[in-house]
Amino acid sequence: MQDRSTLRTGEPWAANLLGLDYAEEASRLGTPPAPIIDAHLHVNGRRASAIFKQVCDLYGIDRIYTQTRLEEAPVVREVFGERARFLAIPDYAAEDRSSAMREGFLKNLRIFHDEFGARMVKLWSAPRLRDLVDEGDDLYRLDSPWRVRVAEAAVEMGMMIMTHIADPDTWFATKYADAMRYGTKREQYEPLEVMLERFPVPWIAAHMGGWPEDLAFLDELLARHDNLYLDTSATKWMVRELSRHPRDDLVRFFARWEGRILFGSDIVTSDAHLEASPPGATQYGAHQAQSEEEAFELYASRYWALRTMFETDYEGRSPIADPDLMMVEPQTYHERSSPGLSGKALPRELLVSIYRAAGENLLERWWEEHP
Ligand SMILES: [Zn+2]
Repeated sequence: MQDRSTLRTGEPWAANLLGLDYAEEASRLGTPPAPIIDAHLHVNGRRASAIFKQVCDLYGIDRIYTQTRLEEAPVVREVFGERARFLAIPDYAAEDRSSAMREGFLKNLRIFHDEFGARMVKLWSAPRLRDLVDEGDDLYRLDSPWRVRVAEAAVEMGMMIMTHIADPDTWFATKYADAMRYGTKREQYEPLEVMLERFPVPWIAAHMGGWPEDLAFLDELLARHDNLYLDTSATKWMVRELSRHPRDDLVRFFARWEGRILFGSDIVTSDAHLEASPPGATQYGAHQAQSEEEAFELYASRYWALRTMFETDYEGRSPIADPDLMMVEPQTYHERSSPGLSGKALPRELLVSIYRAAGENLLERWWEEHP
């Protein structure tokens, strides 16, 4: 692998529209106010993991909680050692997805628990899951019988739960416009609330609970459920929507829910990012990067954007192309358009809470208490 000072594409592209030197930018940002716990990652691939580890070292990421494919978990553990902790996930890529998310998931739970120390399960329940299972299959509902069964088995093994509910407002305005099929955005939360009551373990609802656009809604949801936590993952979505809130509103929200908001990036790493991928290769977004340099910038761009938004008063374009803009307004935007990134310069104590203390109190403690 190349020295990190040369891991640079040197020209603007989708993960670096501003032509930044992300290694240099990391030293400019400096050491974060506390070593960062990233609660939401998908780390895969031996070589990609090694590149990603350089990015973690540069941007002050100390601990990673990763949703790694079972067959990749051994190499990720080799590269990251004790720094990596694993979540239990099903084999989403299985030919028979329906069985992989039922009996297959129960098997995965056991292996992730026994061999990789997983103490959290991911129950992915995005509306588009409906398109990925057979017509008539109820698996897409978070409170359907098999989802309950997997949750029961996981909780029995001492696991807490992470879930993905809803998706951006931009998707409900476009690809989910058929509310008869996908339900409204608000309706996505009905099964979640049922499950939060039924399983009183801690839950992390990823991507700011799926509704970073609406802090008032999240206020009420968090107030109703003491066992609910949120993470800040899905960088493009968070940058686009959290940037829009006035700083005072966001600071007030984070302060009110201090300890219940955890830092997450949703970075996906894969060896498929390290070389040109065949046309049509889609797994892990294989087309998202085509070389070591691009993979480095792809991963680093997410930490650059999140840390810049949380820590600084930057006002400018995000360096990351956001295709949602074009999806909603094709006349105004194109493939390389990016939203404004508005730095919120959060107070230091909030940064320490989001970056580390919330993760220590919830995740690190949960793992300790469930040996
Ligand atoms: Zn994710």
